[in-house]
Amino acid sequence: MTATLDIARHNANAPTLAADAAPGADDHQPLIGLSRPALAEALAGLGIPDRQIRMRSGQLWSWLYGRGLTDFAAMTNISKDLRLALGAAFTLARPEILTEQVSSDGTRKWLLRFPGKTPGEAPVDVETVYIPEHDRGTLCVSSQVGCTLTCRFCHTGTQPLVRNLTAGEIVGQILLARDRLGDWPGAERPAEGHVPDAERAVSNIVLMGMGEPLYNFDHVRDAMAIATDGEGLSLSKRRITLSTSGVVPMIPRAGAEMGVMLAISLHAVRDDLRNELVPLNKKYPIADLLAACRAYPGLSNARRITFEYVMLKGVNDSVADAKELVRLLKGIPAKINLIPFNPWPGSPYECSDWETIEAFGDIVNRAGYASPIRTPRGRDIMAACGQLKSDSERVPAWKKRRAGAGEAH
Ligand code: SAH
Ligand code: SF4
Repeated sequence: MTATLDIARHNANAPTLAADAAPGADDHQPLIGLSRPALAEALAGLGIPDRQIRMRSGQLWSWLYGRGLTDFAAMTNISKDLRLALGAAFTLARPEILTEQVSSDGTRKWLLRFPGKTPGEAPVDVETVYIPEHDRGTLCVSSQVGCTLTCRFCHTGTQPLVRNLTAGEIVGQILLARDRLGDWPGAERPAEGHVPDAERAVSNIVLMGMGEPLYNFDHVRDAMAIATDGEGLSLSKRRITLSTSGVVPMIPRAGAEMGVMLAISLHAVRDDLRNELVPLNKKYPIADLLAACRAYPGLSNARRITFEYVMLKGVNDSVADAKELVRLLKGIPAKINLIPFNPWPGSPYECSDWETIEAFGDIVNRAGYASPIRTPRGRDIMAACGQLKSDSERVPAWKKRRAGAGEAH
């Protein structure tokens, strides 16, 4: 059963003091996504005296990120005058929900709309996915609209980069999910779908939605600083995983400036094949990528790098590939996540047979690496890994070549 709640054009929680304003369509600035210093500056701009700024911004921070308020009027420890001034200048609006789908396995997918950043700029749509398990709830967050990269097996890769998401838009996905899952202190959990048997419905974040997070570094870093702030969302860095296709020069900065867990989309063990599957490999080949992994700070048996490996039938799934993978990763605290390929309309690959995936996993396992096979979640709502995409279409180069070849015959 697939439930599609069409909440078209319904804005979950418009703040009442700015209720006449469509989010971002006016001069109300978003407050969500400002760093602590920027928030302090915003308050100074409203005339709050210096000696009060620290206290006031701390109070505001707790309302925004600890309690999830979207209405300045409900911030009871803030004076009425300041609440009115905040409401006149700022908005706490959530992204607009275009659709919310709940899969038969409890996975949820939202298609969200963010307004243009400047007057006249078109709004953008992104997907966010929530995956409940018995002991955790993982939110798969998008970092870009589309992607500059063109991995051949990935649906997002067929969509050109429209723009980077801002820190506020990245954090907005987390806040929206917590709203919808009743994941704020005192809020009610939804009747439909499952949430885990854990204190928090959203306990883990994976930056594995649309886009390449290391090509939107500053905004992703600022968003993760908000997500891990102990007086707000308070997510543990160990429960946040950033997945990259291998932007080698940014990997040390991810370690130093974010300190989150790293996942590498490896998918091939030879440069010739990886060049084809993940074209970024031509710029940053496997040896350079693995050197950056070896140098990633804080690695230990308890803090391993995840290597993602999408299983493509007859392409990268042989016994020799598995053995080479083990050899390449020697000395890196690693786990290997085997991802059954998730097909999408027009995709050029097939998923490996189950026995092949298991045989591959056994070889990796025997070498001492955990090699969980990622259970595809939310397939009935096209929410599985690599299936996310909004509307604009890019014809991939290989398809153009194929079309060209067809015409020549
Ligand atoms: N751009 C980042 C993060 C987003 S993709 C990256 O590439 O790592 C998240 C994961 O899904 C990546 O490992 C990606 O390679 C994988 N993926 C993409 N398309 C897929 C598909 N159709 N089936 C299975 N996994 C896919
Ligand atoms: Fe972009 Fe990641 Fe998809 Fe590659 S796999 S096209 S990097 S989103």
